[in-house]
Amino acid sequence: MDLTARAIEGSRQDFYIANERVAPKSGRYIPSYDPTNAEPWYEVADAGAEDVDTAVQAAKKAFADPAWRRLTQTDRGKLLRRLADLVAEHADELAAIETRDNGKLLKEMHAQLRAAPDSYLYFAGMADKLQGDTVPVNKLDMLNFTLREPIGVVGMISPWNSPLMLLTGTLAPCLAIGNTVVVKPSEHTSASTLALAELIARAGFPAGVFNVVTGNGATAGEALTQHRDVVKIAFTGSTATGRRIAANAASRLVSCQMELGGKSPHVVFGDVDLDRAVNGVVAGVFAAAGQTCIAGSRCFVEAGVYEAFVERLVERTQRIRIGHPTDPETELGPLALAAQLDKVEQYVGYGIADGARLAIGGRRPQREALAKGWYYEPTVLADARNDMRFMRDEIFGPVVGVVPFRDETELMALANDTNYGLAAGIWTRDIDRAMRFARNVDAGTVWINTYRSAAFMSPSGGFKESGYGKRGGFEVMREFSRLKNVVVDYSGATQDPFVIRLR
Ligand code: NDP
Repeated sequence: MDLTARAIEGSRQDFYIANERVAPKSGRYIPSYDPTNAEPWYEVADAGAEDVDTAVQAAKKAFADPAWRRLTQTDRGKLLRRLADLVAEHADELAAIETRDNGKLLKEMHAQLRAAPDSYLYFAGMADKLQGDTVPVNKLDMLNFTLREPIGVVGMISPWNSPLMLLTGTLAPCLAIGNTVVVKPSEHTSASTLALAELIARAGFPAGVFNVVTGNGATAGEALTQHRDVVKIAFTGSTATGRRIAANAASRLVSCQMELGGKSPHVVFGDVDLDRAVNGVVAGVFAAAGQTCIAGSRCFVEAGVYEAFVERLVERTQRIRIGHPTDPETELGPLALAAQLDKVEQYVGYGIADGARLAIGGRRPQREALAKGWYYEPTVLADARNDMRFMRDEIFGPVVGVVPFRDETELMALANDTNYGLAAGIWTRDIDRAMRFARNVDAGTVWINTYRSAAFMSPSGGFKESGYGKRGGFEVMREFSRLKNVVVDYSGATQDPFVIRLR
């Protein structure tokens, strides 16, 4: 099967269940739009609860099937390595599909997709390293040990901003552990996940190990998170949806791994090379047109360099090249959805109404060539306050608020005065200060003199309303496996049946 964007253009994309294309029971399809011209470019099957059930049953069957269940961990690792090779082979095609779907820069999606094989390789290497412990207990004729086991069918709901990179972070470990998966990608960006399903089948994973149902969050997503045979949910998306999914999961007493929104503080002290810090702040909030959960959208600058910093930030922002995401010169493409554009405009309006100073941006680009797409200029709102509405809510667009601070005490109060706790960044040459910040800030990831530097080897995940549970590193292997304690009595003795054996 051809995995290029050209092959997808104008097509109807069915679900991928048990290594086969399956049409929706309702016969309904929904359009997916190209953000550069707001035109539909393919249709995706719209799942109802029955379709979701078919996928979950396939995953449940595969979990019990010896073809997967009895596969050795070494062989699971080999399958993942084969998948890594296939993803590497098709990385450019997958990147092109994602750019067409979400409007993110082709060079950014290339970077993500070319790194994806390394992630599969990393977790392929983990497949045979998930081990339990022998527990020394005060019973000399007993063996007490733990087993790490797969958990069953994992439901994954992935967002539109980086579909495969975010999915890989939980999918690769789940396959390494021996779980089976049903994923519901965002209705706006389903094509790359369906293409990945094809590669997973080609790699030789047994039917039902990986399944894709597509459609609306409120129907397909809801049916997946409420399904009684889904034992864990991995969700990346907004805090509002995360809260709803967590409530569904709680009613069935299943756990979740939640990577939700952010409103990350990005701090600049006066002792740094200001141009380097400006570059970092630009990377933190304008890369991906601000559509990243880790966006450093609240920028705090030491009062002594505040004016100079804002001036340079505006100057650099002015030079950002807005354009078509496939043009290698482009630095800022369109927003992924019309709704995102509306949201960004609304929040910039709130900022100005609340008294922030529009230093640059604050409108759609005026160029005729961009008129049909969902483009928005990178926007700096200076002289902001942390209590302004646009500084409280996640916007998910190219908008940064800049606030001066006097000292570290004030800075820490401002930085932590947010409902979120996903990431934070600081630019300073003072290592003591940097370490105090790292210790005291409520954020799952802290960057010192860098920003937006990610690695699948390191555990990431937020605090507070940014979610819970980790992805990355060995932590994610614990997150998606279960720990069982086994006790063996080899004393041959008969114990008093009415007394618990504590010694
Ligand atoms: P959502 O949180 O609504 O969507 C994320 C995923 O959840 C999508 O696959 C969506 O499907 C699905 N979904 C939606 N409702 C439900 C539900 N009731 N049950 C199960 N799944 C559901 O984000 P949006 O796409 O609407 O974006 C809105 C905001 O979310 C953004 O402005 C941004 O603030 C934030 N966001 C954060 C992300 C992050 O990386 N932390 C990623 C994406 C968004 P569908 O798209 O088909 O509705």
